Amino acid sequence: MNLNELTVTQAAEGLRKKEFTSVKLTEACLARINKRNKDINAFITVCDESAISEAKKADEMIARGEARPLTGIPFAVKDAICTADVRSTGSAKILDNYTPPYDATVIKKIRDQGGVLIGKNNCDAFGHGASNENSMYGPVRNPHDLTKVAGGSSGGSAAAVADNMCVYAIAEDTGGSIRYPASFCGVVGMRPSYGRNSRYGIMPMASSLDTVGPMTKTVEDMALVMECIAGSDPLDATTVPDAVPAYHTGIKNEELRMKNLRIGVPREYFEIEGMDEEVRTITDEKIERLKDLGCKIVDVSLPHTKYAIAVYYIIVPSEDSSNLARLDGIRYGVRNTEGRTLYDMYAKSRRFGFPEEVKRRILIGTYALSAGYYDAYYKKAQQVRTLIKKDFDEVFQKVDVLITPTSPFPPFAIGDKVSDPLAMYLADVMVGPAAVAGIPAISVPGGKTKTGLPIGVQIIGARMSEGTVMNIGYWLEKSK
Ligand code: GLN
Repeated sequence: MNLNELTVTQAAEGLRKKEFTSVKLTEACLARINKRNKDINAFITVCDESAISEAKKADEMIARGEARPLTGIPFAVKDAICTADVRSTGSAKILDNYTPPYDATVIKKIRDQGGVLIGKNNCDAFGHGASNENSMYGPVRNPHDLTKVAGGSSGGSAAAVADNMCVYAIAEDTGGSIRYPASFCGVVGMRPSYGRNSRYGIMPMASSLDTVGPMTKTVEDMALVMECIAGSDPLDATTVPDAVPAYHTGIKNEELRMKNLRIGVPREYFEIEGMDEEVRTITDEKIERLKDLGCKIVDVSLPHTKYAIAVYYIIVPSEDSSNLARLDGIRYGVRNTEGRTLYDMYAKSRRFGFPEEVKRRILIGTYALSAGYYDAYYKKAQQVRTLIKKDFDEVFQKVDVLITPTSPFPPFAIGDKVSDPLAMYLADVMVGPAAVAGIPAISVPGGKTKTGLPIGVQIIGARMSEGTVMNIGYWLEKSK
């Protein structure tokens, strides 16, 4: 096995036992990036030099007996997350030259442990998309089939983990951007509860939905990384003060507990038009495996699910239009110099600096927030959001978690949906509702189509129940 193929758990053990060095592990990842990135396009920036010097420092930490769980392990970061002294474009030309002076809190926590930042991942610009085709640096290709999309918006992170170009990645999920590409690339991705992990330093998309979380090769790795990055942060007032549970030890040794779990199968998710038969079969098989473990399967209903996409695509563009107003080409980022007036300069910087989808969201959001329409759109959407959240609250009185597919269909061809924004929005139908409700959900690989494309299965839990969600994900992953 090549070193870059190791999981976080295996790499940490090998480093601790001095079977190899962090430099060797980092070199193995860089060699893989060198070989594959031109085809897959998972990285916008590769930190070849700084990664090796960080790896040397990590080796010194290990030699001094100061190793922590993520010391010396190469990780990649979505380009919409700020990394100190490493260019962070958000995959949009308006920030093409932006190098943040600080790390996002979650990244700082990893770097303080001696984690090795290997590079920045391509994504849909500022997280807008489900296929990674809205990047101004080109689409990411699915490592399982280069003609297919990697999923979005964190397609680069998913592809990099799936193709062993890094050991794990950190990405952002506002409405599916971790789980969706995880499902398409055959890796594990979790959106934590809103407020579980600090959003400080994440380029904001929709502030009331944005979350940050890991993408990993196994659920055990997910628990390990989550334990390192979670927790309250004085720099993000929306983080919750609850202590971080021992996620890593929590996911194992609990086979017995599975026997008493109630797993809800929400009918609305299985009645979706155009749901692929192979997706349905793989999800059904996983439900059977949970039954074999002794879980009780319960049919449940979340009646307001059908409004989730409409609610999402009003709230998100509205918050987007406000957040993205800061990118004007004046304070930082790329300024267009052809404009003859100040207004012209703003307009041109934004016209050339944002891709079409981002401009579409800004227009929709500005309209939805405008005087006279605010009550009819944004306010109404927030009211229906409460109903969606109430559905989940009620259902979690009856069951411990819910199981659904992550995507209604397998990875689609590059170019298939890019000219039909509505079809692309509908791809979020399984991942959107949990985001609107602010609750945790994990996507774990469920199986593959006959043509070898990965299909993910999603476990959704009540607020702050990441531990349970990962626990079930862990047993699902084991039950092949
Ligand atoms: N498909 C969603 C969107 O385009 C994903 C957003 C996200 O999670 N960043 O809004």
